[in-house]
Amino acid sequence: MPDKDYYKTLNIERNASPDEIKKAYRKLAKKYHPDLNQDKKEEAAEKFKEISEAYEVLADPQKKKIFDTYGYEGVSQQFGKNGFSWNNFSHMDDISDILSGMFSGGGGGGGSSIFDMFFGGSRGNQQRRVNRGSDLNITIDLTLKEMYSGISKTLKYKRFEKCYECNGSGAKSSRDIETCPECNGAGQRQYKKQSIFGTMINVGVCQRCNGTGKIIKKKCPKCHGDGRVKSEHKLTIDIPPGVMNNSFMVKEGNGNAPKHKGINGDLRIIFRALLDNNFIREGDDLHIERSINYPDAVLGTNIPIDTIDGHKVKLKIPSGTESGKIFVLKGKGMSRLHSSQFGNLYVRIKVIIPKRINKEAKGLLIKLRDSLEKKQ
Ligand SMILES: [Zn+2]
Ligand SMILES: [Zn+2]
Repeated sequence: MPDKDYYKTLNIERNASPDEIKKAYRKLAKKYHPDLNQDKKEEAAEKFKEISEAYEVLADPQKKKIFDTYGYEGVSQQFGKNGFSWNNFSHMDDISDILSGMFSGGGGGGGSSIFDMFFGGSRGNQQRRVNRGSDLNITIDLTLKEMYSGISKTLKYKRFEKCYECNGSGAKSSRDIETCPECNGAGQRQYKKQSIFGTMINVGVCQRCNGTGKIIKKKCPKCHGDGRVKSEHKLTIDIPPGVMNNSFMVKEGNGNAPKHKGINGDLRIIFRALLDNNFIREGDDLHIERSINYPDAVLGTNIPIDTIDGHKVKLKIPSGTESGKIFVLKGKGMSRLHSSQFGNLYVRIKVIIPKRINKEAKGLLIKLRDSLEKKQ
């Protein structure tokens, strides 16, 4: 797996503020915008994607935290099999914002040329922009044990799916579909505009047909013309050992179907940790507290500890152990994500001082006190 340093990519310090991260991205986005690099468009597009990947991670506090802790390996699981793709990019607003500042004046969406480039349009002018459904989020609760060992879960959730009645067209029958007269079925129209960089050709969505290239005369009764219906979907996912609270995984293509055919959005599964009765988790480490009585603290003992893997280990408490002392059981903590290593288990000892004792114990303690006083 390639290792990436997003801070280097954006040319910023590791402690850069959110504002500095945004500034750095905007600066580089202007520099590498493919429309401004007509002579080496491909190269610029590649670079533009790289900085956008870095921005996607560093602008999101959660992803940034994962990257800071686990590096590229940690965040890459949130992208697809082949790494970051434009589907993973959630800051299109920022790009449009940057571009509208660059090409002020003139109609059409300022960013459409770059959108088309990355979403597979504009190679041939007649090609339509990819119609993509929206993403979905699902939160699932996991016990600490499940987070430790990893688990396979079957999710059931509602999403939009292609209407089988009309095969996604939204029309009652194929005779009820006409080619849009405004764009001749292309779904988009060209807008020429002048800028300081010369004449730019931008492509915008056809307003008449909303980019579908078609006009529906009679709507499908099942989906009322949308080409999609809401239905329940089942998906089995394998959650790896060691996932963190509030981290997530992305299942590409498992989100909503768009209106009128196209590709599905993604499903984002967010993991939420349920409170555990025994352990407190801190990164890969676990913490527990164990009570021992006063004689055991003085004389020493062995206490059984239930570890997260379901085993019991004996912890040796040496004589003269004070309350608050912490013992470390190495490798008995949480499993580390994408690693064969484990964190530690920290056992904090609490010495119990009894509130009430029986006559016999009281007599013994008085004798003990007397003997201690004599020694002094
Ligand atoms: Zn339908
Ligand atoms: Zn049209």
